Amino acid sequence: MTGNPDLIAYVNGEFERLSQAQLSIMDHATQYGDAVFEGLGVFGRRVYALEEHVDRLWYSMKYCRMRPPMSPEGAIDIVLETVKRNRLETGYLRLLVSRGTGPLGLEFTKEIERPTVLIIPQVRRKYSDEQRLNTGLTAIITRTRRTPPEVFDPRVKSCNYLNNLMAKFEQWDAGVDAGIMLDMTGCVAEAAAENIFVVRDDHLLTPRPTHILNGITRQKVIGLARADGFQVSETSLTPYDLYMADEVFLTATLSQICPIIEVDRRPVGARVPGPVAKKMLFRLRDDMAAAAHVAF
Ligand code: PMP
Repeated sequence: MTGNPDLIAYVNGEFERLSQAQLSIMDHATQYGDAVFEGLGVFGRRVYALEEHVDRLWYSMKYCRMRPPMSPEGAIDIVLETVKRNRLETGYLRLLVSRGTGPLGLEFTKEIERPTVLIIPQVRRKYSDEQRLNTGLTAIITRTRRTPPEVFDPRVKSCNYLNNLMAKFEQWDAGVDAGIMLDMTGCVAEAAAENIFVVRDDHLLTPRPTHILNGITRQKVIGLARADGFQVSETSLTPYDLYMADEVFLTATLSQICPIIEVDRRPVGARVPGPVAKKMLFRLRDDMAAAAHVAF
């Protein structure tokens, strides 16, 4: 289905072929989206920002009042072991923890004892698509607003992506490449699975990490840009700031850095990918190549 070879997945302490790996239909991930996860990048046998991803997974579990199934060091070990067993040179890993298996009904949730832990590997020979990088993406601002912290904190990377998927459907309906969500106050939040940056007069601006998922790539780009001498501010942005930007780009583990050349039919800058996005992509790739965790 994925065109991927039959890789080896991790399921509750066992390594199994992806095609054989099973999850109970009574798992709370399937019943309630009662699970949290991380998407990790593997580049040249190295797992990028592994500690940061594991930390975020632990924060997500704490928010959701889930009992960690192992120590953070144990999670790092099984991620590296999965990469090694698959001899995965370049790819993606999904590390997922669900509350576990239990009877139907929310009232039984507190009785669930054993979390489900999964690692699903995927081969990706290429990361961000070079062609899209050279041409840039078109975007709309969606009517779907990002789930506010008052409802469920968007900093939690949970397995309920319906809010994000609704934005994605609007994007597809509009025939563009990205859908940008606002928060409930009308300020720019993030795309369905990417964070957003604006460049104005060589100054990088990005929403504060309160109404968005605080992306690991986002945090890395902020650090790399500052190290490069750029001024970076975490601030409120409205659609106006997107329309008037010199550059807009998205960041995520999978897509790395994607320049946006049009928002709501208004050209961004010169309607071509800008120099800051390209520079940050090179910096990010250098950083990935130097990632500490070499799996094999
Ligand atoms: N926002 C959302 C909603 C996401 O799903 C993702 C992808 N994990 C991101 C932002 C980017 O986060 P990261 O850089 O950690 O991949």
